[in-house]
Amino acid sequence: VIPSIYILARPSFTSEYKRFLRIHHFQWKESRATVAERLTEFAGRICYLSFGKRQSPRKNFDYIANLIKRGHESVFEHVSWTFLLEGVSRAFSHQLVRHRVGFAFSQLSQHYADQSDTHFITPFGLERNRAAFIAWEQGVKFALDSYKSIEEQLREKRRKKRVSKEELRAIRSAARSVLPNATETKIVVTANARALRHFLTVRGAIKGDIEMRLVSALIYDMIHKDAPTLIMDFKKSELADRSPIILHHRHRHAT
Ligand SMILES: Cc1cc2nc3c(=O)[nH]c(=O)nc-3n(C[C@H](O)[C@H](O)[C@H](O)COP(=O)(O)OP(=O)(O)OC[C@H]3O[C@@H](n4cnc5c(N)ncnc54)[C@H](O)[C@@H]3O)c2cc1C
Repeated sequence: VIPSIYILARPSFTSEYKRFLRIHHFQWKESRATVAERLTEFAGRICYLSFGKRQSPRKNFDYIANLIKRGHESVFEHVSWTFLLEGVSRAFSHQLVRHRVGFAFSQLSQHYADQSDTHFITPFGLERNRAAFIAWEQGVKFALDSYKSIEEQLREKRRKKRVSKEELRAIRSAARSVLPNATETKIVVTANARALRHFLTVRGAIKGDIEMRLVSALIYDMIHKDAPTLIMDFKKSELADRSPIILHHRHRHAT
């Protein structure tokens, strides 16, 4: 199982901005850019009403490059994506949800969803070490067997008598407590471009965390498709094992 992404919502920019420009007799000389990039530029130009004769720089690319250079990144918060990640481990999602600012999350509940059919995310590269891989496989199998035994007790209780919702929750809590960090999860994420830039900066180049880099690459590709200039200072590259790494020009040597 490898991480996959479903992009549920992309940035949009309606033509209402034209009504605003018309009402105020502002001229905005637009250059070729994507919806997300144009919205960013428009939001930035509102700060100084840099329309008409005050419009500088002229090109969207240069405008956004200047925002990045000056650290005027709050403008990037107007552009956001909603995406579903699956095929990721709870270990990964725990790190992801530590990002508080500019993120919203909705994650598969281990309280309400039966996990008896769950998958486990094999730590990437582990298969190269046969003995470690076998130990890992035994560990997750044992954990899942324990989970199922506890769930069976739950079913037994259900069969015998009426149990309260809270009692069921307590039993499932016990069952889920034996599941390891490798347990697969699904999580919907909404995040703005500024928050995602920060995420890629601190998470995209951790050499020892392949899962994090794989997800970072998916996020990079998503942004790159819709708003390449918003991540013009990032670069997607590969390590010797062909796994992706996201490099930020200020953090090229992150480990
Ligand atoms: C390599 C690595 C190792 C890590 N190891 C550990 C570890 O061992 N243990 C552990 O607990 N965590 C660890 N973390 C998690 C890390 O400490 C952060 O919790 C996580 O990366 C989220 O980043 P953030 O705090 O920048 O949050 P974000 O929500 O992404 O915040 C974005 C930015 O907003 C600002 N900000 C956010 N909240 C506040 C606030 N309350 N006050 C002031 N400014 C704020 C900061 O400038 C912050 O960088 C690790 C992270 C990395 C990348």
